[in-house]
Amino acid sequence: MRTEQPKMIYLKDYRAPDYLIDETHLTFELFEDHSLVHAQLVMRRNPAAGEGLPLLVLDGQQLELLSLSLDGQELSAADYQLGDSHLSLQPKAASFVIDSSVRIHPESNTALEGLYKSGSMFCTQCEAEGFRKITYYLDRPDVMSKFTTTLSAEQHRYPVLLSNGNPIASGPEEGEGGRHWATWQDPFMKPAYLFALVAGDLWCVEDSFTTMTQREVALRIYVEPENIDKCQHAMDSLKKSMKWDEEVYGREYDLDIFMIVAVNDFNMGAMENKGLNIFNSSCVLAKAETATDAAHQRVEEVVAHEYFHNWSGNRVTCRDWFQLSLKEGFTVFRDAEFSADMHSRTVKRIEDVAYLRTHQFAEDAGPMAHPVRPEAFIEISNFYTLTVYEKGSEVVRMIHTLVGAEGFRKGSDLYFQRHDGFAATCDDFIRAMEEANGIDLAQFKRWYSQAGTPRLAVGEHYDAAAQTYSLSFKQSCPASPGQSEKLPFVIPVELGLLGAQGQALPLRLQGEAAAGAASRVFAIDQAEQLLTFVDVAERPLPSLLRGFSAPVKLSFPYSRDQLMFLMQHDSDGFNRWEAGQQLSVQVLQELIGQYQRGETLALDQRLVTALRSVLQNERLDQAMVAEMLSLPGEAYLTEISEVADVEAIHAAREFARQQLAEALFDLLWQRYQGNRDLSRSSAYMAEAEHFARRSLQNIALSYLMLSDQPKVLAACLEQFEVCDNMTERLAALAVLVNSSFEDEKAKALASFADFFKDNPLVMDQWFSVQAASALPGALQRVEQLMRHPAFTLKNPNKVRALIGAFAGQNQLGFHQADGSGYRFLADQVICLNALNPQIASRLLAPLTRWAKYDGARQQLMKAELERILASGELSSDVFEVVSKSLAC
Ligand code: ZN
Repeated sequence: MRTEQPKMIYLKDYRAPDYLIDETHLTFELFEDHSLVHAQLVMRRNPAAGEGLPLLVLDGQQLELLSLSLDGQELSAADYQLGDSHLSLQPKAASFVIDSSVRIHPESNTALEGLYKSGSMFCTQCEAEGFRKITYYLDRPDVMSKFTTTLSAEQHRYPVLLSNGNPIASGPEEGEGGRHWATWQDPFMKPAYLFALVAGDLWCVEDSFTTMTQREVALRIYVEPENIDKCQHAMDSLKKSMKWDEEVYGREYDLDIFMIVAVNDFNMGAMENKGLNIFNSSCVLAKAETATDAAHQRVEEVVAHEYFHNWSGNRVTCRDWFQLSLKEGFTVFRDAEFSADMHSRTVKRIEDVAYLRTHQFAEDAGPMAHPVRPEAFIEISNFYTLTVYEKGSEVVRMIHTLVGAEGFRKGSDLYFQRHDGFAATCDDFIRAMEEANGIDLAQFKRWYSQAGTPRLAVGEHYDAAAQTYSLSFKQSCPASPGQSEKLPFVIPVELGLLGAQGQALPLRLQGEAAAGAASRVFAIDQAEQLLTFVDVAERPLPSLLRGFSAPVKLSFPYSRDQLMFLMQHDSDGFNRWEAGQQLSVQVLQELIGQYQRGETLALDQRLVTALRSVLQNERLDQAMVAEMLSLPGEAYLTEISEVADVEAIHAAREFARQQLAEALFDLLWQRYQGNRDLSRSSAYMAEAEHFARRSLQNIALSYLMLSDQPKVLAACLEQFEVCDNMTERLAALAVLVNSSFEDEKAKALASFADFFKDNPLVMDQWFSVQAASALPGALQRVEQLMRHPAFTLKNPNKVRALIGAFAGQNQLGFHQADGSGYRFLADQVICLNALNPQIASRLLAPLTRWAKYDGARQQLMKAELERILASGELSSDVFEVVSKSLAC
């Protein structure tokens, strides 16, 4: 909890550290009611930081100092200053050794930062500033040190003792207590945020990988014994990642051992600690019977992400936390490309773009909007955001698009080579890309410093006589907190022109000697810009921003017929889907208007026609069919509305789904049965083709169920009961939960919970499915579920599964006009603020979006934010988000 006034920290105030820590020797004595940490720091004055011997200021929080010495001399209280978050002392020489002993309490650490217990095991989480809760240190990423770590614990309870690097010694401890110890040494310099230790009763799955230079690396995944059967998918993913990083980036793993440990209580997805990744169990454990296809893909992606950090994050780390996207944006880009290579590139892109546009765009339009490289923060934990991660990845992707795959590889090679072993900045990354490619990215860098989602309005003019076709581009970017005026971005727009038969027309710009490729990237870098194409023999239809080549809101006045044409003929798979989305948005917005005016709803039949031809197209990838059938979500419709009308959005979308279900019943039934037959007759496989057919099967089922036909209910129940995998079972359960078959629903929920009560990750799904259901009484259901024995506020996965799903995925339930949803969320935030500030602050996000709603709801939401602010002593995490949300 905060005791000093929260302070804003600025990028412009960055200064190199006064002192360096060449070696860090740690000893942990782990006990049930406390732990002792001894740290020996071999330090020296940083020659790059100036003259003299300034005061040494070490970070430290919630530590009980037991002893402190300087060069072997025990210091007394008069020799140092001790505050809530710092310990300062005056060095006497340029090189010195500090020894400290502190007592900490991992057993009661519910914030899950620093050293804590997850169930019966000890583990750590140090990024971003958790190491200071373990010992006094220079807890900043530009201070890199060689770590040696000894842990001791009771042998019987904690047979496995792990830390970073290589095991160098271990043995039983002298005396009573049945204790043992182990020492690990990490040969690589690293900042404290990459430190990790684990002690527990763990089993491990072991494998090995031979690197490109024929070195043998031992791979181990440690889990609690009951999960030993759920590690194979993560292990396969790890080996694929290691191979991919060698092939695509030329990056080889560096230690002789790579370990992953799964823990149940974790604030985020996973953590890239050097040689010892610690994972939220939800991002490691996966097998057919208990994890969905989505979970399998998430595991693969997170395993890859953390593995890739070994180069983009660990070997080259961040100078300061403002540079967070240097490692996160780049690494998300790397894992997205990996997933695209492992499965369907187009489907992966569609999923990522849908997510970005729904959630990151909303963040970028809200009170917490910040640039990819923020300039100020109160609490760094609040900046592990969609902007830093997902938009950061889009920014790296745009560089890739502008310089091409080869140029990008030259740039990344230079970056890794130049900064290996050091702490770098976003500017360093850009400089490497510039120098390797002989280009100037000065204007492009505005993507790092300007917040907000740019708009790109496109117009056209065809001159039949001159056979020229012009596209006019007009870019702008709305104001965001602290930034009223924005300068033009460099926006790479990939585009093609389609002729009346759907054929690609040659693209030759005025002044060019010859036509180039049929799909080209143009860098739009002026506020207003014109592209004029010559030799255009017929009036074309443009396909713009192919593959979503820039994270912008593009508008072009397409008619619905033109969108249907693009859905059929665009050679870019992403844009075929996008045309369908735009068509759906137009149609849904029309329905929303009808609903608001009290008119009878009437669905534009062109949407039915378009989706019918998608369903009839047997050559289309089934995953694409499923994506095309998914109407834009309520959260996305909210994001693109000026003022979101929750009830109208829900009613319009449900009406459209109902109409589509009726009109396309036979086709959906056919597709459902065909795929369900295949599911029944083949064993589960975590592969693209199988994901594809199950996703079409399941979305078809969700439509079919709207028909209330007995044969569909029977099919749904059969799927629920007779399947070998969680993807089919959970989808059937979700469909039942959202139906009006009360008896069947209750029975299915009960039997599911009974069967899976001992599997927390499956119970998370069970909570989410119910919390996200828009049927009346959502809040009461959620409140009742909070009293379920499997629920606890202390486990972040449970909080996300139940409260997070309700506030984030149940628009109708959360935004009840009486404000009950808001009051409920605020109550939970207030509770969590004391238990786990990071989770409390993340859970708040839906309340910060008040500006999207009508005046009455705005008042209710703001009142709850005020209530949180007045509720007592707030963590810096919650304080920052609440105060910024109210300041707008
Ligand atoms: Zn990461």
